[in-house]
Amino acid sequence: MTVRIAIVAAALLASMVTVPAAAQQLNLYTARHYQTDEKLYDDFTKATGIKINRIDAKEDEIIERIRQEGANSPADVMITVDMGRIWKAEQAGILQPVASTTLERVVPAYLRDTEGRWFGFSARARVLVIAKDRVKPGALKDYEDLAKPEWKGRVCARSGAHIYNLSLLSSMIATLGEAKAEAWAKGVKENLARPPQGGDTDQIKAVAAGQCDVAITNSYYYVRLINSEKANDKAVVAKTAVVFPNQDNRGTHVNVSGGGVAKNAPNREAAVKFLEYLASDPAQLYFANGNNEWPVTEVPVDNKGLASLGNFKRDQINVAELGRNQAKAQAIMDKVGWK
Ligand code: FE
Repeated sequence: MTVRIAIVAAALLASMVTVPAAAQQLNLYTARHYQTDEKLYDDFTKATGIKINRIDAKEDEIIERIRQEGANSPADVMITVDMGRIWKAEQAGILQPVASTTLERVVPAYLRDTEGRWFGFSARARVLVIAKDRVKPGALKDYEDLAKPEWKGRVCARSGAHIYNLSLLSSMIATLGEAKAEAWAKGVKENLARPPQGGDTDQIKAVAAGQCDVAITNSYYYVRLINSEKANDKAVVAKTAVVFPNQDNRGTHVNVSGGGVAKNAPNREAAVKFLEYLASDPAQLYFANGNNEWPVTEVPVDNKGLASLGNFKRDQINVAELGRNQAKAQAIMDKVGWK
């Protein structure tokens, strides 16, 4: 009898106590880890009350991890760099469509999926860095020039198998066709000053050190050097200059950092809110500045080094093309031996 009374009393008590709803949260899988991102996440939590659990992974591991977790994946949002990787995520079926009038209004159409499975949130350009004392202004105007005989032994580039070069070649396949893209890759490979080695910053430094006259690099690596206080970096910048290729025709190849909502997102509503937040002015500035990239929205850049590069014409093919042509690009790189 006493037990029964106790149970009834407990049930009565439970019905009277209002249990607070579980705090809202968001599981963010990201391949980006910059200090300004911390502020970005804190501001989101302050504005929405949604707590962010960040799961860091390397660029090439993040997709595989979500795929392996399958239907039970706690992933709500995936963020990575380069369209080639976002495309892999889309192809792996780990992203879901999002319909958001906010995102459709502020993110340019060429930087997002037509079905809303992914959005670009910052933009980078694949630029050329030249030696000021050895390359006359205007001597190098287009990516296509890099394959010409006069550049023999003068070009520095990282491996052709790296996603940045695969995406650049993908853009050339999209605009020039496979045959011309292949002839270009073969020409560049033959013009290399040394076997591909290191990352993009190493190519820039090799130009400054006189090992080659032009380097292919993502813009943010150069902007990082411009913004650096280190004497070595200042010396590299003093000896070099940026060329935005193809300004008289299709524009410079542009790629993105971005992501989307995971297929089995347990906190879908919070995930969409987070993507919309990333497209807001303050978040755009933090996100872009974290890696010295350009915001994708109209918000003016707030980065000294980036501003110093000025405006340029961008190749506005939909970045999805960069994903679509990855396999063809890899086959061409293998064939021409740009390893
Ligand atoms: Fe990078």
